[in-house]
Amino acid sequence: MTTESHFDVSGEAPPSATNGVWLSCVACGTEFAPFETVRYVCDDCDGLLEVRYDDLPGWDDYEGDGVWRYAHSLPFEEGVSLPEGATPLHEVPQLENELGVDRLRVKHEGLNPTGSFKDRGMTVGVRVAQEMGVDRLACASTGNTSAALAAYGSRAGLETLVLLPQGNVAAGKIAQASLHGARILEVEGNFDTCLDIVGDLADSGEVYLLNSLNPFRLEGQKTIGFEILEQFRDEEGTYPDRIVLPVGNAGNTAALYKCFRELVASGALSERDVPKLTGVQAAGAAPMVEAVEEDLEETRRWDDVETRATAIRIGNPVNAPKALPGIRETGGTAIAVSDEEIQSAQRELAAEGVGVEPASAASIAGLRLLRENGVVTADERVVCLTTGHLLKDPDAAFTAGADPEDVPGTTEGVREYLGLGHE
Ligand SMILES: *Cc1c(COP(=O)(O)O)cnc(C)c1O
Ligand SMILES: [Zn+2]
Repeated sequence: MTTESHFDVSGEAPPSATNGVWLSCVACGTEFAPFETVRYVCDDCDGLLEVRYDDLPGWDDYEGDGVWRYAHSLPFEEGVSLPEGATPLHEVPQLENELGVDRLRVKHEGLNPTGSFKDRGMTVGVRVAQEMGVDRLACASTGNTSAALAAYGSRAGLETLVLLPQGNVAAGKIAQASLHGARILEVEGNFDTCLDIVGDLADSGEVYLLNSLNPFRLEGQKTIGFEILEQFRDEEGTYPDRIVLPVGNAGNTAALYKCFRELVASGALSERDVPKLTGVQAAGAAPMVEAVEEDLEETRRWDDVETRATAIRIGNPVNAPKALPGIRETGGTAIAVSDEEIQSAQRELAAEGVGVEPASAASIAGLRLLRENGVVTADERVVCLTTGHLLKDPDAAFTAGADPEDVPGTTEGVREYLGLGHE
């Protein structure tokens, strides 16, 4: 497949399209009706599907705030909304200075309704589920997808089932799934095992799958890209040179790439303004980094994965076939970071008032390494994506942070403890 044919997303609607929306296989190009039959991959070749539109809007077509501001780039006018998106693009002057880049901004997706970017995917995905008329939603999750699915599913009045890897989900995330009323199955196995199982249930029609294999979820996540470009342009007068993000299943990487391709196809963004997509993985779960470094066509499945950044503890990134071209064609790269580097970055972000969970801090840790090895240059304007909120993983925060100190229950006692002397 040529670079051009992969990059280009413009095209005439096939007869199977509904209101100018259809599905297309990224591997063989076969086109399918979007909402008639539930399907997650191509009937012909098992390739990943992506949503296509006959009408690709420009910046002037967007109005309002958050994910649904970009309704003209989504399959529906509105969705099941809490609402989501419109997250801050923080300035982080100390980090910017210390890492030595021209400009550094942090897009904090932890400020979404359930505390991660997964809400952007769910507001669209659950709307599609309603269109399909399904009544039971399911996902495999390292935690955040389950929290988002539980919240959006219950808001839509649908049953939700989540499969989590036993012992490897942060406390805040299980608490959310539980309170929002999901049925939680803790599977003996890792995330990839959970996804294998829920994939089988979805194939036999038992559940509607809302993992990022579902192409409609990535449509919602695409709006991270629209927001970054608009916010950065409005505040900095230009587009960022690079976007650095943590990578698990590589759904966001694929979604951002699709955002760029659609904007280029509509003429809203010139090809040379497309930011370099730069993925960061934990060293103990880095099949995407391996594929980029060894120039592999596909990722190799890692059966044993380990990292304290549980949100990216994934050995078989399902969206790799969409994300690898995104990294390559935008001139980006991928890099692995250690858990120690992730923890330091989490502290550094916290020191600027930005509280994130470990996986999110991988983006900053990765940028630091890429500055040190010269891949990122001092003149670059960079956006780091932080994907989830600090409170998602309270244990990790306690480990990285300062310990509480026991003091007596009197002013005098506290003064003495602090070495302040008598008043
Ligand atoms: C889901 C998730 C990721 C991984 O995103 P992908 O799109 O699967 O690559 C990273 N960080 C957090 C906090 C997440 O919840
Ligand atoms: Zn196909």
